[in-house]
Amino acid sequence: MLSINNLIAEVEGKTILKGLNLEVKPGEVHAIMGPNGAGKSTLGNVLAGREQYKHTDGTATLDGKDIFELEPEERAAEGMFLAFQYPVEIPGVSNLEFLKASMDAIAKYHKEPEMDSVSFMKLAREACKAVDLDQNFLKRGVNEGFSGGEKKRNEIMQMMLLKPKLCILDETDSGLDIDALQVVAKGVNELRSRDRAFVVVTHYQRLLDYIIPDYVHVLADGKIVKSGGKELAVELEKKGYSWLEQEVA
Ligand code: ADP
Ligand code: MG
Ligand code: MG
Repeated sequence: MLSINNLIAEVEGKTILKGLNLEVKPGEVHAIMGPNGAGKSTLGNVLAGREQYKHTDGTATLDGKDIFELEPEERAAEGMFLAFQYPVEIPGVSNLEFLKASMDAIAKYHKEPEMDSVSFMKLAREACKAVDLDQNFLKRGVNEGFSGGEKKRNEIMQMMLLKPKLCILDETDSGLDIDALQVVAKGVNELRSRDRAFVVVTHYQRLLDYIIPDYVHVLADGKIVKSGGKELAVELEKKGYSWLEQEVA
């Protein structure tokens, strides 16, 4: 589904990703861990096409399509979803308007009819309930004044409605209390399916007790330097990252 080969990317003229390789198949959950400043958020941002993040070499394909040939909104319509480490507030645009506009844009891209408002409202209410958010969050400005936990729940709700095939979650557990963490993990687990994949960036092994990954990778200094199963996360939690740097050196 996602195939990244020797990806090199820069931010503000500085090379951050230095030859990154990653293969993600449908149905798989990959966790990416690694020290601060390693390039984890840069990876998500360059894949999603965020401004300032420039692909300079290497390739990345989504179901065989060259990601860097697509505009950011086309990447989204092709099924890529990035849940930001710091979700953006969009005051003045309600969550409902935002979700409907996003769904309509995706339908239009695929030359499918828009969902009618009644069915949409029903789905939106169900999604709210699934992530334990009150219905009035649908009417509020996107993330406007939401707490950290509410923003993360809101992102899971967006995923439930937009049904992306590749979900990239950037430190979706940061700043969450245990209850919110469990709600987010439950949402992700409900969305796991044979044709959907997740790339979960996290600092803490704790999240991976709830979202059990198939693979764990360590991203250090712009590259994946080690890959393993879920036991690698436990080892990292115990030993930190410095032993890996020595091993790599
Ligand atoms: P991580 O998510 O692994 O902690 P990041 O990808 O956020 O790391 O950052 C990697 C490096 O890129 C850091 O040195 C960071 O300062 C730099 N960087 C990331 N985004 C920007 C930006 N928008 N402008 C300038 N530098 C950036
Ligand atoms: Mg960081
Ligand atoms: Mg980050």
